Amino acid sequence: MCIFCKIVNKEIPSNIVLEDENFLAFHDINPTRKVHVLVIPKIHFDSFQVTNSDIMRDMTKFIQQVAIELNIDKSGYRLITNIGNDGGQEVSHLHFHLIGGEKVGRLVR
Ligand code: IMP
Repeated sequence: MCIFCKIVNKEIPSNIVLEDENFLAFHDINPTRKVHVLVIPKIHFDSFQVTNSDIMRDMTKFIQQVAIELNIDKSGYRLITNIGNDGGQEVSHLHFHLIGGEKVGRLVR
């Protein structure tokens, strides 16, 4: 079972921000900014590339709610999902990074 499935099953502890029937948001264990939260569907998809539009529709609303919960909805934030090897994905369970709480800067090479 993948590490994020274990977090869903509460076999591994996490610092939860928001949870509903289908999604879970928790603080990244190794934050890169003041706010760094991961949002995952409870059902396993390897990545965004193999997910479906039903999940993404519902996940959109959930992510917006997480941003409100974190009080970064007005100040703004960066939303990232890494996909596969070249995308730098380390955990093969679809997740979005919500990064903010401060200016995150430009995406540069
Ligand atoms: P990726 O590189 O997009 O796959 O990001 C994986 C993220 O998961 C990284 O930012 C890690 O710090 C984070 N991470 C890995 N294991 C855990 C954990 O057990 N709890 C919370 N975050 C984790």
